[in-house]
Amino acid sequence: MTRITGSTNSKIQLARRGVRGLKPYQPGKPVAELEREYGVRAAIKLASNENPLGPGNLVREATQNISGLLCRYPDGNGYGLKQALCRQLELEPEQITLGNGSNDVLELLARAFVSARTEVIFSEHAFAVYPIVTQAVGGQAVVTPAREWGHDLDAMAAAVTPKTRMVFIANPNNPTGTWVKRDALRAFIARMPSHVIVVVDEAYFEYVQEDDYPDALQWLSEFDNLVVTRTFSKIHALAGLRVGYAVSHPDIAELLNRVRQPFNVNSIGLLAAEAALADEEHVQRSREVNNMGLRQMSEGFESLGLGWIPSVGNFVCVDVGRSGDEVYEALLTRGVIARPVTGYGLPRHLRVTVGLERENRRFLAALQKVLEQTGP
Ligand SMILES: *Cc1c(COP(=O)(O)O)cnc(C)c1O
Repeated sequence: MTRITGSTNSKIQLARRGVRGLKPYQPGKPVAELEREYGVRAAIKLASNENPLGPGNLVREATQNISGLLCRYPDGNGYGLKQALCRQLELEPEQITLGNGSNDVLELLARAFVSARTEVIFSEHAFAVYPIVTQAVGGQAVVTPAREWGHDLDAMAAAVTPKTRMVFIANPNNPTGTWVKRDALRAFIARMPSHVIVVVDEAYFEYVQEDDYPDALQWLSEFDNLVVTRTFSKIHALAGLRVGYAVSHPDIAELLNRVRQPFNVNSIGLLAAEAALADEEHVQRSREVNNMGLRQMSEGFESLGLGWIPSVGNFVCVDVGRSGDEVYEALLTRGVIARPVTGYGLPRHLRVTVGLERENRRFLAALQKVLEQTGP
């Protein structure tokens, strides 16, 4: 084996400035890793906002005999999936950019539009991928303070300068679960000058049922600087296959296509995503399980005397009243993986994904035990 020697400090100096200042994205701990490291069994993971039901029957059937696909390159244009999206969402294929997860399209957006001379606005407590894709291409991140844990659209609008090139809004936001209303978001987009690309990240769109919650796709014909991103990782339960997409004006899609890797979405992902899209029954059932789970979580927090941030997603941030990192660690020893959110500026919170009834029950019971053992 080759030994790795010497200091890497000199190499760090070679990296571009934005990369030098970056911290890698911290993913939720996989179950197998916890079991390996802690020697626990039957661990549960409520840490990455995955669908606890798993994929629906249509996906299971579609992916049964996939070995024949493995030796061929995927369809680089994703024809079948784009057609299915167009039928379901009433779009034109020229508006769609498929990604290896929606994180991929967020990165394509930064690579196509952001440079060292431009600024990117996003909110405090917003999704961790926005600073990563911004700084990786050398852009200047402009972080506006949150209001009631969520996006302060007035503060974001006030931060726009001639150098602003992109604004990221997660609706609902991860990790806080907060959301912005239709009128407020539409007015915000209308205020944005044409040199600003507005990215509305709707990763949890299918979960939200509030009357005032907007479908930003409806505004694409009005605003040619609007980009809406969605994913198959959340309600469609395909996080492991990595499929997401952006919808935009065809000119923006054409630019993203220039910087896209030719085969950024794999064959199995394309196939499974198309099947998932057709499985409205599974989406509906996932929504119902989530509604019940959100209720179960809030009742549990209530009886533990804990506060939480009201969420419309499939996750919720609970105020544990002490170090969230410590509670996270203590939960691990009990075989429960939640998500610490100190890195999001929420050191006393934990984010927990809504799981199945028994998983939620187990999480709440473990949390109660941990809180009894650790002082505030
Ligand atoms: C989970 C999530 C995504 C989706 O990521 P994928 O790359 O599609 O798995 C995007 N945005 C937000 C805010 C998320 O929480």
